[in-house]
Amino acid sequence: MDRDKVAEERLNAILATIDNVVWSISASTYETLYLNPAAEKIYGRPAEAFYKDPGLFLSIVHPEDRERVSRVLPELMDKGAASIQYRIVRPDGEVRWLEDKIAVARDASGGPVRIDGVAHDITERLATEQKLNAILATIDDVVWSISAHTYETLYLNPAAEKVYGRPAEAFYRDPDLFLNIVHPDDRKRVAQVLPELTEKGALTIQYRILRPDGEVRWLEDKVAIGRGPDGRPARLDGVAHDVTERKAQEAKLQYLATHDALTDLPNRNLLDDRIAQAIAQAHRTGNTFGVLILDLDRFKLVNDGYGHVYGDALLLALSARLREAVREGDTVARLGGDEFVVLLSPLKNTQEAIPVVRRLQNIFATPFSVLNTELYSSTSIGIALFPADGRTSEALLKNADAAMYRAKQMGRNGFQFFEPEMSAQVTRRLELENALRRAIDRGEFVLHYQPQKEMKTGRVIGVEALLRWRHPSMGIVSPQDFMPVAEETGLIVPIGTWALKTACAQNKAWQDAGLPHLRMGVNISARQFWEGQILQTVRRILMETSLPPQDLELEVTEAVFLRNIQETVRTINELRTLGVAVSMDDFGTGYSSLNYLRRLPIERLKIDGSLIRELSTIPTATVMLRQLIQLAHAIDLKVVAEGVETKDEFAFLADNQCDVAQGHFLHKPLPADEFRQMFMEQRP
Ligand code: C2E
Ligand code: MG
Ligand code: MG
Repeated sequence: MDRDKVAEERLNAILATIDNVVWSISASTYETLYLNPAAEKIYGRPAEAFYKDPGLFLSIVHPEDRERVSRVLPELMDKGAASIQYRIVRPDGEVRWLEDKIAVARDASGGPVRIDGVAHDITERLATEQKLNAILATIDDVVWSISAHTYETLYLNPAAEKVYGRPAEAFYRDPDLFLNIVHPDDRKRVAQVLPELTEKGALTIQYRILRPDGEVRWLEDKVAIGRGPDGRPARLDGVAHDVTERKAQEAKLQYLATHDALTDLPNRNLLDDRIAQAIAQAHRTGNTFGVLILDLDRFKLVNDGYGHVYGDALLLALSARLREAVREGDTVARLGGDEFVVLLSPLKNTQEAIPVVRRLQNIFATPFSVLNTELYSSTSIGIALFPADGRTSEALLKNADAAMYRAKQMGRNGFQFFEPEMSAQVTRRLELENALRRAIDRGEFVLHYQPQKEMKTGRVIGVEALLRWRHPSMGIVSPQDFMPVAEETGLIVPIGTWALKTACAQNKAWQDAGLPHLRMGVNISARQFWEGQILQTVRRILMETSLPPQDLELEVTEAVFLRNIQETVRTINELRTLGVAVSMDDFGTGYSSLNYLRRLPIERLKIDGSLIRELSTIPTATVMLRQLIQLAHAIDLKVVAEGVETKDEFAFLADNQCDVAQGHFLHKPLPADEFRQMFMEQRP
């Protein structure tokens, strides 16, 4: 066999195995020169039929495609090669899509001799593509594909029109349009993503687009490089998901996490961020900045007295005023409760803080009108400056807090710059709080007893129980020093209950020992009155100690009435039904008038020592005090003068029908056994 023959047979063997139709016709007569075996399978007709009839080929083409196909061969002579897709109809009626790649074969002089083609059955592929397109048409995400070289749009699914708000054609026409609809603030970032994309092959980017209607939407675009057959980047393919709602939700959560729910002011988290920024800025510019802590004076009184609704409304009104009082760029934050922070950044020097502090204090000059009530308030301010008073947010806030605490101690409504010894004070206070927590269990409390004398008869008829704390290292601590901490921490409830029970038991013990019945006055703080279930507690203690109820008197202050007057009156009436007396303590230090007291079911008025002291210092005090006693008697109140220190005071009170006196002039508060001894000696 010659070599050509061998080669031809090998070629035929190969052509017999492939699924594509390989065909060859004469360029002049269109007679079939060759058809491989696949033709029979794909066309559904024997190959001989085509050899016999040069017109057969065109007749099996689908009628709708026939004209297009018949034009191909003449055009081919110029172009040399073509690719065409068309349908054929098989004898069984089945329609199939073919993709035919056709080329002209020429002789040595360039004249066309043959036309060769390879026809590939693409029916299944097209069906799949159609299915894919149908799917892509239903999804809400934009599916897109652009050329990696020219950025021309290769594909956009129907969702694009809805999401972008522009017809898909516009993108096919203008390769720049896509970047143009990206929000100007994000454009640079989006444009710069290309190098990273080339390196990684795929990435996800979030950006905003601007729609023609002006609406801004957030997209999350997953972009990947599509590679050509040569392995080089050919396309950029992406799926863009509209995440506008999710972003809004995230922003809302972010807002909630960084703002105070009541006042909408930045909270501690955001404040820490801002302070961190201020620190960075201070390092850059050499400026300083200040952290101010404001704490309302006696805010507890508003909350306890009027209720939380008023308290909240006051905080809200205050936060509005605070915002107005600071400079642009300063931050007002709320740490919780009645504690606010003002971050003054930047400050050129310490002095610059002072006018702001004055403005902050000024906003308290006019009352806050809260739910139709005018509330006066004041604030104590502590100031810490960077970097002298701290180099971190935490240190600055801690030291500003110490300074604020100092300002409160100095008499409220003032301000203090931090000084290093202040943090030692705060430490001491915390130690006090801890020690106080353990004091009950360790039996460190004792009661001292101060006699009360009836002026008419000179007899001791009552006694006030006064708390003393025997601290293991500090010695006797006066209530003035620990009571504010006990109140603030709520420790006053168990401590007060202990005092009540101890005083009742002591009074009963004295009675059992043969002393006459004395009325035992026990101080009840406002918080204890409200949170200590006072009625049940008193009932229980009277039962446990067997003290006759008329030998007990509860001393309350006006703070008790501020919270809820109707309910307080009801509780006191029930206490009186039990037989227990109630007196108003510290009269003259607060705001109550006698007119107000008229409505309260109390029996005795305890005039505060500070009013008695005025007798010798203020000329009009004698008239005032005389009238006060008369008016009290007019509304059936007995009058007890507290803190009587001198003979003159005592004489004046005796002359003016004061009922009972108590004070150092008569007796200091005494430990229980000394009290008993004193009593025995005094007895006629
Ligand atoms: P208070 O109820 O007005 O008690 C009278 C205070 O005046 C007592 O102070 C007493 O020692 C003091 N005092 C008595 N005579 C004189 C005097 O002639 N001159 C002066 N300058 N002071 C005199 P103390 O014992 O330091 O108690 C202070 C406050 O602590 C009490 O004021 C009361 O409000 C509170 N307190 C004391 N014990 C208790 C308690 O068991 N429970 C509660 N909730 N509060 C208590
Ligand atoms: Mg008292
Ligand atoms: Mg008092």
